[in-house]
Amino acid sequence: MFYRCPKCKRVWQYPIEKCPDCFVNLEKVKQKEIRVVAVSRVGIPSVSHPKTPYFVLLLEDENGNKWVQKSAKEYKIGDKIKIEPSQEEKVVAIWIIKYDIPESWERVIELIGGIKPESETRILLLPTLVSPSHPHLGENTSPEFLETAIKYLLEKGVKRENIKVAGQSFNEFPIEISAQKSQLLKICQKEKIEPLNLSEGNFLERDGLKISQKALEADLIINIPRLKIGEARASQNLFKLLDKTNYLAQEYLSTEKEIFEKLKKQLPPVLTVAQADSVQKQDGRIVHMRLTMACLNPLYLDRIFAQITASPLPKILKNVNTEDIRVLGRKIEELEWVF
Ligand SMILES: [Zn+2]
Repeated sequence: MFYRCPKCKRVWQYPIEKCPDCFVNLEKVKQKEIRVVAVSRVGIPSVSHPKTPYFVLLLEDENGNKWVQKSAKEYKIGDKIKIEPSQEEKVVAIWIIKYDIPESWERVIELIGGIKPESETRILLLPTLVSPSHPHLGENTSPEFLETAIKYLLEKGVKRENIKVAGQSFNEFPIEISAQKSQLLKICQKEKIEPLNLSEGNFLERDGLKISQKALEADLIINIPRLKIGEARASQNLFKLLDKTNYLAQEYLSTEKEIFEKLKKQLPPVLTVAQADSVQKQDGRIVHMRLTMACLNPLYLDRIFAQITASPLPKILKNVNTEDIRVLGRKIEELEWVF
């Protein structure tokens, strides 16, 4: 993504918002045609790029803007790069955040076929909100990520009053305190979006599950988890749409996977856009992966994340095979790290 000043036509690769000379807002310039103009082959492994050889491509768009990109596949000078989007459930889109989260958001949603909400579409945003901790600790969805989601929907024309941010506490921390410390509440206030504590609303019984009425009434649920290495956070975040007592009882009677499948059948369409820019390891240390991922089924997204991070599979992912999951945007080989 490039940003152009409508007045002096200067172009930046980062979202600096206003032109430093003309003080006007920059406009986004999307790439239509991407061509390879130079290729270099790297044969020496490093911590963040353990797999060799790989290729660094110099790419150019139809406006003459140039940037570099890592590739596991070898290209020749003059090759065109085009990724066909797909709306299949077993497609996981991955994009590396270069300078800004909003660009990666647009990319991953485009890759899984896009969404076309209308002004009246009722959307429920479901961030990870599990502890009263500051954003830099990487425990909850970050305020920037939530704000990106809200702004994306507003730009698409969705009415502010039709967007809700939902959460519920399943642990000892009151959700209000977590919302405040994580600064997610601040974003809701700034963007004038209503935050919902689902535990205060109604739950309707469906196939033995008690599901939040607000979730069942939405036209689209956008699940925006903060991923964590060794966990299936994208899939498990959906359990927050259940009544807590009902969830605990279900967990006692059946496996997480069974609850997940039953719940997903009852819910309106769920789009998952996961935050994996800085993610926690099990010991709480942060790894900077700089990724945004999207999928129509969070189970497949979690499975691919486990593959990238080469971490042991949580129970819920045990029988989810990677063979029939297609990855679009970036290849797994380009992302595998030494953790
Ligand atoms: Zn300017």
